[in-house]
Amino acid sequence: MEKEFVGKCKACNSNIYCNSGFIEGVVQEDKTLLCFECSNKNEKEPKTN
Ligand SMILES: [Zn+2]
Repeated sequence: MEKEFVGKCKACNSNIYCNSGFIEGVVQEDKTLLCFECSNKNEKEPKTN
């Protein structure tokens, strides 16, 4: 399976790869990366805006 290094999670610093065009994380609006685990944590944070 093709696996390409994309970058590191901004929050936990774990490596994020792209598997056959599918990124194992989320690209934020500021172009930083978050793994799914950290992304899910963020989603649970109460939003104040
Ligand atoms: Zn993370």
